[in-house]
Amino acid sequence: MKIFSYIWAFVFFANNLIAQDYQVGNSYFSENEYAEYVHGNLPIIISAPHGGEKKPNSIPDRNCSGCVTQNDTNTQELANEVVDAIQNKLGCTPYVIINRLHRSKLDANREIIEAADGNADAENAWEYYHGQVMFARDEILEKFGKGLFIDLHGHGHDIQRLELGYLMSGNTLRDEDELEASGEESSINHLIETNISSSDFLELIRGPLSLGQIMENLGVPAVPSQADPFPFAGEAYFSGGYNTRTYGSKNGSTIDAVQVECHQEVRFNDDDRLEFADQLATGLIDFIETHYFEGFSEFDCIVSTKENSAINFDIYPNPSKNELFIELEGQNSFIKIYDQWGRCVLSNLSLNPDRKLDISNLIPGIYHVLLIDQNENLTQKAFVKN
Ligand SMILES: [Zn+2]
Repeated sequence: MKIFSYIWAFVFFANNLIAQDYQVGNSYFSENEYAEYVHGNLPIIISAPHGGEKKPNSIPDRNCSGCVTQNDTNTQELANEVVDAIQNKLGCTPYVIINRLHRSKLDANREIIEAADGNADAENAWEYYHGQVMFARDEILEKFGKGLFIDLHGHGHDIQRLELGYLMSGNTLRDEDELEASGEESSINHLIETNISSSDFLELIRGPLSLGQIMENLGVPAVPSQADPFPFAGEAYFSGGYNTRTYGSKNGSTIDAVQVECHQEVRFNDDDRLEFADQLATGLIDFIETHYFEGFSEFDCIVSTKENSAINFDIYPNPSKNELFIELEGQNSFIKIYDQWGRCVLSNLSLNPDRKLDISNLIPGIYHVLLIDQNENLTQKAFVKN
């Protein structure tokens, strides 16, 4: 996990000469810990705007007309459990932003005026929350070029199913012609053109490879999905709010968004919620592997941060087209090659002096060679593949 951030730090220094001192997997907080940010290294952002517990007396309850102040029970816990499950499966970490204030104090899924109701401390927390979402989004764009933002909620509707929001209303979901013509208005607009599964918009939101159907196959009812393509007229359904509109790809971003509204059955009981968190982690990884990044479940985040005791090695020729020679002193090193998005494309190659690597199958681009010795010391060099 940690070498990954080391590579990123390198890429960031190289590209921007600016780097934030964030450690992957660590939490960072706004003033008074009203909002929390967890630094990640995956092209996934998990946002939990309605699960906070803090009710400081110094922030008056929001009393704007029409404001909703009821929390989405246990969604802060759920967000952390989903992140743990993804970490366990991939060894990598999503970016996470959590509003730790109760919704009666701050609604992090509204624009700032309705969100904070004029309170300066709540506004500070709102600005941190959304500033960190934008920071994570920019970093993902830099590293991966695309990604997925999940706004995690809990609904109190009678029908016990996930409600997945793509900014398509119940009416639109029920009208297939209208739905088919509405892809550009959706929060996964970018995915329609770029998905690696050759799926169209309808397939992406309710086909056999849709997130809804992936969750159905894991035993979690979901709408829209192949099994349950739309809510019937009169059935309550959330189609996506401020965060899904703001951070999805409706407006040209290359990061998509889905509002995931979780029913009470998967939230209220600790054991059931843990099981569901694991299912949702599995579903998200499957969805991203199917539509975004081939081999995503094999994403390999390196675990060491040791950067001392550099191994003395050379790579040549650079640029190179078909083969790369790696010359080093000493033995017992392992080599891994990462592409410019941090994906491990060659790994655990045992290395001899003057070893020749066949790189003819790599697509042209910038790559990083990492050598790791027995003490987990690592050294890296970049090369260009033509
Ligand atoms: Zn909510």
